[in-house]
Amino acid sequence: MKPYYVGAHVSSAGGVSNAPKNAAEIGATGFALFTKNQRQWRAKPLEKEEIKAFKEACASLQYPPESILPHDSYLINLGHPEKENLEKSREAFLDEMKRCELLGLDRLNFHPGSHLGQISEKACLSRIAESINQALDATQGVTAVLENTAGQGSNVGYSLEQLQDIMAQVANQNRVAVCLDTCHAFAAGYDLRTEEACNTFFEKFDTLLGFSMLYGMHLNDAKAGLGLKKDRHESLGKGELGLTVFRYIMTDNRFRGIPLILETVNPDIWAEEIKMLLSFTKE
Ligand SMILES: [Zn+2]
Ligand SMILES: [Zn+2]
Repeated sequence: MKPYYVGAHVSSAGGVSNAPKNAAEIGATGFALFTKNQRQWRAKPLEKEEIKAFKEACASLQYPPESILPHDSYLINLGHPEKENLEKSREAFLDEMKRCELLGLDRLNFHPGSHLGQISEKACLSRIAESINQALDATQGVTAVLENTAGQGSNVGYSLEQLQDIMAQVANQNRVAVCLDTCHAFAAGYDLRTEEACNTFFEKFDTLLGFSMLYGMHLNDAKAGLGLKKDRHESLGKGELGLTVFRYIMTDNRFRGIPLILETVNPDIWAEEIKMLLSFTKE
């Protein structure tokens, strides 16, 4: 049986090779990272030495590619309604995919995009699919991993149907997948507070998209209520969701073998949260 890869979105300050070390320090069995500064468009190319150091650290600390979920820059909008800005986003996304390729990583997590009130949701979804098609054509071995959103502002990808819509328009079905964020799902109106609610949600996911398409999860409690479309993360068990959904995930083998990543608000207790999650598997 595959292991549970549980970790957090750790810092890669000072170089990407620091990320696996930061993950090991909090007892993580997987991790997420930015491969460049997430608030800037441009980044220096990765240096050979840094790539080597990253790969060595991952190997020695036992983080296989399938346990690692890199996240792209927050600036990128693959569904941008304006041509020039869309191009800028597509270029930046391609650069992110190539950085993953160089680091030996096999997936890149990103938020689908926003229509900014200028085009329809449907048109925005098609634009995102086209952006993914272009990036996949120009790279090899890295899967584009769409994250469900809270539906705040003009962000699309807040429903399973919208994710399905994008994915159906991607030419290479082997290199497109999904990351589910528990806080975002709850904010978008999917109840996850009871075992029955979890059954309903994940059955729907399995029917519309399928568990073979699940390449990662973000484990976050939610500060705001069900369906309020507020992207406000909370520490596990301290928000509106409670611990049921996290216990559910950690005792269901369908969630093994993919990165399960905390993006919770207090990094000081990540080690405790990871320990708690791993303890659920033994209950
Ligand atoms: Zn997330
Ligand atoms: Zn979020």
